[in-house]
Amino acid sequence: MKVAIIGGVAGGASAATRLRRLDEKAEIILFEKGSYISYANCGLPYYIGNTIEDRNKLFIQTPEEFEKRFRIKVRVNEEVKSIDIESKKLTVEKLSSGEIYSETYDKLILSPGAEPLRPPVKGIDSPMVFTLRSVPDTDKIKEYVGRRNVKKAVVAGGGFIGLEMVENLHKLGIHVTVVEMADQVMAPLDYSMAAIVHAHVREKGVNLLLKEGVAGFEENDNGIEVELRSGARLQADMVIWSIGVRPDARLAKDAGIAIGALGGIQVNKYLQTSHPDVYAVGDAIEVKNPVTGKPSLIPLAGPANKQGRIAANNIVDENVEEYDGTIGTAIAKIFDLTVASAGASAKLLKREGIDYVSSYTHSSSHAGYYPDALPLSVKIVFSPHTGQLLGAQVIGFDGVDKRIEMLAGVIQRKGTVKELSDWEHAYAPPYSSAKDPVNMAGFVAENILEGKVKTIHWRDVNMKKFLLDVRTGSEFELGHIERAINIPLDDLRNNLDKIPKDKKVVIYCAVGLRGYLAYRILVQNGFDNVLNLSGGYKTYSMATLPANNIIEAEVKIMD
Ligand code: FAD
Repeated sequence: MKVAIIGGVAGGASAATRLRRLDEKAEIILFEKGSYISYANCGLPYYIGNTIEDRNKLFIQTPEEFEKRFRIKVRVNEEVKSIDIESKKLTVEKLSSGEIYSETYDKLILSPGAEPLRPPVKGIDSPMVFTLRSVPDTDKIKEYVGRRNVKKAVVAGGGFIGLEMVENLHKLGIHVTVVEMADQVMAPLDYSMAAIVHAHVREKGVNLLLKEGVAGFEENDNGIEVELRSGARLQADMVIWSIGVRPDARLAKDAGIAIGALGGIQVNKYLQTSHPDVYAVGDAIEVKNPVTGKPSLIPLAGPANKQGRIAANNIVDENVEEYDGTIGTAIAKIFDLTVASAGASAKLLKREGIDYVSSYTHSSSHAGYYPDALPLSVKIVFSPHTGQLLGAQVIGFDGVDKRIEMLAGVIQRKGTVKELSDWEHAYAPPYSSAKDPVNMAGFVAENILEGKVKTIHWRDVNMKKFLLDVRTGSEFELGHIERAINIPLDDLRNNLDKIPKDKKVVIYCAVGLRGYLAYRILVQNGFDNVLNLSGGYKTYSMATLPANNIIEAEVKIMD
């Protein structure tokens, strides 16, 4: 059997090596238009920021090692220009010489990835505007930063890669402005959680402009001027253009392979395209989102690698394995914060018309009495009918990864919030609390489902309601919701006459726990129109921070 693979990085390399492990006799040809295969594109921002110092560490395998160990014919610097589906032939260009030749296959795997979105913005082709996808892109950015002694950069787009670049440029002593068209960074998060990221990057001296777009670029004697849609202009030495990616589906489309409504290659549950001898994996395909049941684009390395393996299995053993889709579990380090999400956000469920309830809990990364416990915020969304966990977002400084992985596991197997309450975790004070933040999220969700507490969210708080702050007097003095009345929890039973029975009462505390205790006191004392503010003042105050708080910070040089 002769298998050709287009794309030699995450999905393609993974498919190629799995094929060899399963079939020692197969002829495997891997086409890669770049010079490198199987490299760590997820590590590129960290090489730019010098966290990864040795460039060679980015390369997991060289073409030579690949050929030697796996007997795979690796054809780097060769671009597949077209696919003839009927005759099973590829037209290939050797990019160094321009020579064109054709190659046959029995089975074909497409893993061409995604390409950065580059709309026709005025001046976008300036050599001072960079995108980051590959090793050559990385080399160009790194060389430019060093040669031009860059002091000011603009990053257009506040997604995961954009923000990783923000951190790494900042680490090099560069003052960074982020220009983001949406009202929040990191689209898989809900606004209230993204607000924690907004506050953190601003604290670091990053100038974050939300609800702002780039209208164009103009080179000048001092570098490049970025014209914003609001009419403002920013002077910079360089721009990182990182507004997102789209599936690189051109080859497939030209070959007559079916493309989905989102622009990705359509595949069935075996990762087979509309043509049975052609499989497709990675960023270029549309996958099923198991939460919404709809096709989606999820450009992540984990799914690409796993899909490559499954496509190889299905080629060798004729469709033995089904791919269940991906819930898009993702994590990123944004300065000192770790930000993670899995499954659907509340805004996605709203858009899809799927019923959900959301709940916030703020806990500590480990027992509060043990040194260095740090805040950890969890938002979960779940079905009000079945309790099925539909999505989770976790932000904190420590222990975010293990919590999101546990939550992702439950989402993946369509488990309920009860599983979060029941989760038996490994506990000792340096690692967790006797009730882990995941358990706490489960307890709160179960209370909501069982009607033990009714909650309200920060967006729905308004002055028509009676706002009862049950924190201590000193906490109240430090900041509170306008027109709130302060009755500390411990004084509540003696002050019930100060709370109206004919009005909706919204209780809040710092994070929701004391609010819940107050709620239970009130409802058992005849108050039947009470709501507890989910996530308390912490979620409320973060989510209501001014969105476009432009700050000009000094350039901080880090060592
Ligand atoms: P790719 O790995 O992009 O490989 C596609 C390859 O196909 C390319 O090398 C391209 O040159 C080649 N190709 C395309 N067309 C042709 C053709 N016609 N002929 C020959 N070759 C062709 N994901 C995470 O999960 N976590 C992260 O932290 C993370 N960080 C990232 C950071 C950066 C800077 C980038 C760019 C991506 C990051 N990703 C991350 C995303 C992840 O790298 C991708 O999801 C993954 O690489 C997709 O694998 P793929 O095989 O579909 O495409």
